[in-house]
Amino acid sequence: MLTQQLTKNRGLWAKESCQSCVYQKACMGASWLGRYRPRAFVMQRNLLMRVESSPKQRQGTESHAQLAEKRGVEAPTPEEACNRIRAGERLLFTQAFCSKLYRLYCHPDAVEIQIDGETVNISITEDKANYRGEDWLQLLAEGLILSDPKVMVGDLYLFDRISDMPLKVNIKTTLVPYMNPKYAIAKDFVREGSFVDKALVMAVLKRRNKYADLFHVTNWQGLPLCPSCKEDATWCGFWPVCCEHVPRPTKQTKLGSFGVRKRRYLTRQEALSR
Ligand code: SF4
Ligand code: SF4
Repeated sequence: MLTQQLTKNRGLWAKESCQSCVYQKACMGASWLGRYRPRAFVMQRNLLMRVESSPKQRQGTESHAQLAEKRGVEAPTPEEACNRIRAGERLLFTQAFCSKLYRLYCHPDAVEIQIDGETVNISITEDKANYRGEDWLQLLAEGLILSDPKVMVGDLYLFDRISDMPLKVNIKTTLVPYMNPKYAIAKDFVREGSFVDKALVMAVLKRRNKYADLFHVTNWQGLPLCPSCKEDATWCGFWPVCCEHVPRPTKQTKLGSFGVRKRRYLTRQEALSR
């Protein structure tokens, strides 16, 4: 029952194969990795709480739709996308991808795929209004998903569908601040099937594991505010419920935040037993 609800709540990512997937409860969206938001994660993913999107979020969705139209990003079915890439077309599209190996799923803003002989060139683009360094973790997680030889597009294994022979994979990732597109940055993530910088892969997996530690948590009120949360986080749909449970800093957490450990004195009994 819970697994069915989890799939339903995946929205865009919900697919037939999730119903029989053993990683149903252990996989998560790459979009979480760009920011560490433990409270929002527990409420949305674990407790399946839904709130109306804030005006800022709606504005962001609109801007993304306009950008996709301007760029000519198509939205073919997974079957159609695979057939067109197999026929040698350079296809710029958007679809849901997932990797059982990394237990991650994503829906990038734009993915361009073209087969060139024995190589397949993949370019992933993510648009952000203003981006911070950690936003790269989302984009690199999308690169990681597409680097999996058994990556799925919809319910199909992408590489098995687009070619009969093994292909060498090149993956380029581009982050575009759409308010100032001239500051877009592109990075090679996979070159000829090998990760260019393994430290980046480790950073993505570390953030993923940090979230995985929260899979069993249900007491969101007991968690500290998300690090990106300011005093008045009206941009977050959870703010109306969240602001009623702002943890008050205690003397101990204040000291802890400066890296100072509270000294603990031994009890008389402990001292005598030494
Ligand atoms: S790994 Fe893929 S198929 Fe499995 S539950 Fe996650 S999104 Fe669904
Ligand atoms: S309101 Fe702040 S603390 Fe609450 S879920 Fe949103 S970002 Fe996190």
